[in-house]
Amino acid sequence: MGSIPAVNQLGATPPASSPGAVIRVEDAHKYYELGETRVHALRGVSLEIQRGEFVAIMGASGSGKSSLMNILGCLDQPTSGEYVLDGLGVAGLDRKRLAALRNKKLGFVFQSFNLLTRTTALENVELPMLYSVPIVALRARRQRAVRALERVGLGDRVGHYSNQLSGGQQQRVAVARALVNRPELLLADEPTGNLDTRTSIEIMGLFQELNESGLTIVMVTHEVDIAAYCKRVLVMRDGIVISDSRNKVRRSAHTERAALDEVEQMARLA
Ligand code: ADP
Ligand code: MG
Repeated sequence: MGSIPAVNQLGATPPASSPGAVIRVEDAHKYYELGETRVHALRGVSLEIQRGEFVAIMGASGSGKSSLMNILGCLDQPTSGEYVLDGLGVAGLDRKRLAALRNKKLGFVFQSFNLLTRTTALENVELPMLYSVPIVALRARRQRAVRALERVGLGDRVGHYSNQLSGGQQQRVAVARALVNRPELLLADEPTGNLDTRTSIEIMGLFQELNESGLTIVMVTHEVDIAAYCKRVLVMRDGIVISDSRNKVRRSAHTERAALDEVEQMARLA
């Protein structure tokens, strides 16, 4: 199958390959072998994501979102096709190099926050630095972890254990942990999947803030409401990208938070 041209609602065709691209995927296919059967999970995905973008990946269950994210996150390789991350061809790299690339260039946030229990927020955030090359000295580790926690609004919770934090706070710790190695790209798989509406708005506010400060973000979500905070939305179906559009009107988590606060304050006064 040939590659499907991207549908862009603004009508502008992006250049074939631009120097600022953080992600370039070219005709990626993914097959899984399951005994006798072969599952064709990605059927020719081509896409480019530029520095500073905030992209939502949507699509029904089984459409290939996780398969694509695993490739973008260097957790898996496409069966055929090309993946260039920040100018570096990923195909053919061995596990050790892939791990090094992940540690250096990528931050991950998941639906289940994946924090270590009986471990403080600070220790959780320090963790990725234990595996960095060159080694980060203890003092610098502490400092950077504290700064990352401050950046996500948890400067006053560094000594708290995971189970002493709310779901939203735990997800903030996970975001701080994802940021502490200063990644080029933040990958998030359903980051608000376990959070209530208000907390989801908070986390989207944090993502919008980080994106405004230059961080590139790619996020899987099945909620249209959540995709509306992003700048660009890709929709997958049956292993291909069937739509690629820009949100002309974007939700602003900051504005919505302020409105919610106001309503609550009025309710308290009434
Ligand atoms: P999504 O994340 O959109 O739900 P996935 O990428 O997980 O989609 O799955 C795409 C297709 O590939 C599905 O048909 C799924 O069953 C299949 N699949 C995913 N992972 C594996 C695997 N490890 N082994 C076999 N089949 C898989
Ligand atoms: Mg999935």
